[in-house]
Amino acid sequence: MPASLQGELQPTIYRFKLGSFEIATILDAKAIREGLHPHYGANASVDEVLALARANNIDTQRFEHPNIPTLVNTGEQLVLFDTGNGALPREYEQLSKRLPPGQTTARLAAAGYDPDDIDVVVITHGHPDHIGGLVEGGQPVFPKARYVFGAAEFDFWKRGEKVREARKFNRELFMKICVPLADRSTFIKPGDQVLPGITAVDAAGHSPGLLAFHIESNGKRFMITADTFTQYVMAVQRPEWHFEMDDDKERAVATRGRILDMLATDKLFVASFHMPFPGIGYIEEGRNGYRWVPHSYQLNL
Ligand SMILES: [Zn+2]
Repeated sequence: MPASLQGELQPTIYRFKLGSFEIATILDAKAIREGLHPHYGANASVDEVLALARANNIDTQRFEHPNIPTLVNTGEQLVLFDTGNGALPREYEQLSKRLPPGQTTARLAAAGYDPDDIDVVVITHGHPDHIGGLVEGGQPVFPKARYVFGAAEFDFWKRGEKVREARKFNRELFMKICVPLADRSTFIKPGDQVLPGITAVDAAGHSPGLLAFHIESNGKRFMITADTFTQYVMAVQRPEWHFEMDDDKERAVATRGRILDMLATDKLFVASFHMPFPGIGYIEEGRNGYRWVPHSYQLNL
């Protein structure tokens, strides 16, 4: 009997040590999106976008859009950065086709973590794929956790002023999911610490108060860049190209430039939410600009 086909099988969790911390990245879900252009490079020509895709040997039309939350165990506290889609596609008809079901809690369980184990949930920004796993059926998914939000981000969604049309439903979600958690939340600004060794960095642009995070333990440094750049070719090699999901396109371009420069200069390893799993790599600067270099074994030694 020939062996039967078993279907796609890919890794979904990756864990390594950073100083005395342990860091894990978790594949929450993976969407396949149509329309590389104009999702990327609406301010460039279609031909330029397709040419860059071909030069990098990726599909010119469809692209993979994974969600990858990061878990940091400081040895004292277990901190989850972003929560993925959660039950949003089940609970909201509008999202049922756009977002695949979130699998963060199932995959955390497979890696040995219970929702009760999470001490802190840090939300980098208020978009659905980052807040979706906070609440299910009206109940907090991580019952013992406290929450950390960027003050500017929380304030923007709560006020609801200048929310662009495409984000109106996002605002409704934020009001329903995040605002009721305010009394268990801390609101921080760039430069503030979540815990010793975990410091917020301004990355506003993709959203009004997006925060990246600098992690340091025993002299080892690392960054969580969330949605500063969201595709390993388009957003890194052409940081000046607009990305449809960036709320303030020009500010996002400026932020990408600043953070890519910092990462390339310091050769920091990065966990990036929408990169190919495990979403870990570093930024190399060459004659033709920046390039995403996936992690091989550097962090495993
Ligand atoms: Zn995102």
